[in-house]
Amino acid sequence: MKIGIPREQQPGEHRVAASPETAKKLVAAGIEVIVEHGAGLEAAISDDAFSKAGAVLEDTATVWDAELILKVQRPTDEEMGRLKPGQMLVGALDPHTHHEQVQAYADKGVVAFAMELLPRTTRAQAMDILSSQANLAGYKLVVDAISAYSRCMPMMMTAAGTVTPAKFFVVGAGVAGLQAIATAKRMGAVVTATDVRPAARQEIESLAAKFVGFIPEDGATAGGYARPLTPEEQKQQAEMVAEHLKTQDIVVTTAQIPGRKAPRIITAAMLESMKPGSVVMDLAAESGGNVEGSVAGETVKTENGVTIIGAKNLPSKLAPASSLLYAKNLMNFVMLLVDKETKAFKVNEEDDLVKGTLITKDNAVVHPSLQKA
Ligand code: NAD
Repeated sequence: MKIGIPREQQPGEHRVAASPETAKKLVAAGIEVIVEHGAGLEAAISDDAFSKAGAVLEDTATVWDAELILKVQRPTDEEMGRLKPGQMLVGALDPHTHHEQVQAYADKGVVAFAMELLPRTTRAQAMDILSSQANLAGYKLVVDAISAYSRCMPMMMTAAGTVTPAKFFVVGAGVAGLQAIATAKRMGAVVTATDVRPAARQEIESLAAKFVGFIPEDGATAGGYARPLTPEEQKQQAEMVAEHLKTQDIVVTTAQIPGRKAPRIITAAMLESMKPGSVVMDLAAESGGNVEGSVAGETVKTENGVTIIGAKNLPSKLAPASSLLYAKNLMNFVMLLVDKETKAFKVNEEDDLVKGTLITKDNAVVHPSLQKA
């Protein structure tokens, strides 16, 4: 069994799909771990650290010869050219956005696993890349929003007068949003938050933040995710958000609906009503945007002095931390692909986590959600 860990090629991607800890455990399980020279450098992991963990450092071509390739981002065009029939590929492949690439894996005979599709069951938690990366993104979202804000987060009582605390509003209280609430609370802001899933209200309140807004009937699907709001519900939410925004200093938005474009929650008219100097940061900028006018990776200022920041790949900005968690998630998943008796890789489709992430096999697209699309 050979696993290849390439150096990531997508611009701005600093993470790596293995760590010395995971390399050591994979090697102990009888797997040869082949890491591309320099693959971990941007995540503060030296070639030497990988080598001491038992991995072999190699050039690009040798790494891509391995039976199983572990990636952070989906392959670039050049990397697609390196994939071989029968090869296994595991990573954040973003299959709902890149249908043509999914078809290309099938055409090439690649056995591809998209880790975003992992069923979010209790057993899956140790492999859940969405949670591990969203948690760090939620933290970084707050750190970046604060650094763009030119007033203070906590209340400060001084001899020269009192500085009032920042009013901080979090839209979407999933994994990233809850971490954003906790981080903003730790910084001393007055935090409010909204979501549409019934369970979110209690989760927001358990972090000592105040819930604002409304929860529609059946706001969550059977799988525990949010569903798109009806036009009437959207109107109700817009009225609440519009009123609340007028008083807020920093707003971070994290609202997503799996497999769909992110819902538009903050409109240009709402931004116009906000105070000069306020900051709006959109974590969903890369998937359609919760905020009108947000552009992933860019900061824009409105005429009335509101700064809008479009977040772009925040986990990559914390590559040393996010890589360790991502690598551990992937290592735990890889163990499901090892047949302990034959000591060979095997796709056991009876395992719901293997089946739930498998997108292409035997020259076909096999995941039900992608076949429908
Ligand atoms: P996500 O990234 O899909 O969405 C982020 C948040 O946006 C969600 O809380 C969602 O309800 C909210 N949202 C969607 N539309 C909205 C709207 N119009 N207005 C306001 N908010 C809106 O979510 P996530 O962080 O991946 O978590 C989704 C669910 O999965 C949660 O219930 C979470 O607790 C659950 N989860 C379960 C496990 C597990 O059991 N293994 C692990 C992680 C997450």
